[in-house]
Amino acid sequence: MLMRDLKGDDGRTIGHQTIDQLSDCDLAVSPQNYEIWLNYLCDSNPDLKRELDRLLATGVPLSHQDMEAIYEEFFATTQLSTQVIETGSRIAHEIADALDALKKAGASTEKYGETLKSASNTLSSTSLDGESLKRIVTALAGATSDMSRQNHSLSQKLLQSSTEVEQLRKSLQQARAEALTDSLTGIANRKLFDQTLRLRCDEAKESDGSLSVLLCDIDHFKKFNDTWGHQTGDQVIRYVATVLAKSALPDHLVARYGGEEFAVIMPRTSLTQAQRIAEQVRRAIEAKRLVRRSTNETIGSVTISIGIAEYTRREPHLEVVARADACLYASKRNGRNRVTIETQIDDSDLAMTAA
Ligand code: GH3
Ligand code: MG
Ligand code: MG
Repeated sequence: MLMRDLKGDDGRTIGHQTIDQLSDCDLAVSPQNYEIWLNYLCDSNPDLKRELDRLLATGVPLSHQDMEAIYEEFFATTQLSTQVIETGSRIAHEIADALDALKKAGASTEKYGETLKSASNTLSSTSLDGESLKRIVTALAGATSDMSRQNHSLSQKLLQSSTEVEQLRKSLQQARAEALTDSLTGIANRKLFDQTLRLRCDEAKESDGSLSVLLCDIDHFKKFNDTWGHQTGDQVIRYVATVLAKSALPDHLVARYGGEEFAVIMPRTSLTQAQRIAEQVRRAIEAKRLVRRSTNETIGSVTISIGIAEYTRREPHLEVVARADACLYASKRNGRNRVTIETQIDDSDLAMTAA
């Protein structure tokens, strides 16, 4: 994320504007809100600007939750890397402690070995009386009990370190999962979609298997939001995500691709198999009578449009997304609430989305 380098008066002015706007919107001047607004005013991230403009245009005051969701969506990588750095240094600390304990134990073992060796030398001498033997045995018993105590505390220390490292590993895993999850719907976010697509395309290339990509967009959603409000709109986005996730096969990846757009990566799935699944989803959503949760009133239904393309081995992986998008566009143009697969479109459809 690039931000213009603001110095002197420019920097001060934008800093003041940031604080003024936060208080105009009745938002706390917290470090997170400040970072969001500063980036917004500097116009350093078009997606962030679009999202905030959209929320502001609704006229509904921005809530703490809205700001948290924005922060999570647009600054999650920064958050993750801070977490990774912190966790990394705690793990390094634990390992250094454990190594230190092992080193100390090494020194004690060496000393114990010397005690044993000297006892063995004395024992092999011929002139050994009962008193000397008693002394040796007492010294050996003392050294053995010291050694056993140290061994016990070393194993306690190592156990504690491994528990701590295990907890840190889990928290890293959780942070990673959160950074790849869409906070509104709980399904994969765009970042995980991009990563997975690259991976699955490489696999398909190697195994010569089929791989379909489905894009889905809610029809006339702007109007739906205008009529029923943003929160009910969010409810519908969550609903569509659930239907897609339920209909997908276990190795499919269902992601929120953007605002009211979804994408599904379907390994080992042909165009016709993907089309069958897509038709099921489309029909299920069309048939569902939606109920507004806050008031319990029935608010009709929504429909979705879908486009599907199949990856071909020699193309760059983003090409398949572009073709699925062309199919989605064809579904929209032909009246919405329909599924279009790439064998149903021609070159002019492809050219239209590229334009
Ligand atoms: P089309 O049938 O051509 O897709 O029409 P549309 O109105 O759905 O298309 P458009 O892309 O112009 O509008 C998408 C709308 O989705 C605009 C925005 O208000 C809404 N939207 C995007 N993200 C969210 C979100 O997270 N929550 C809600 N409630 N609405 C969102
Ligand atoms: Mg859209
Ligand atoms: Mg739409």
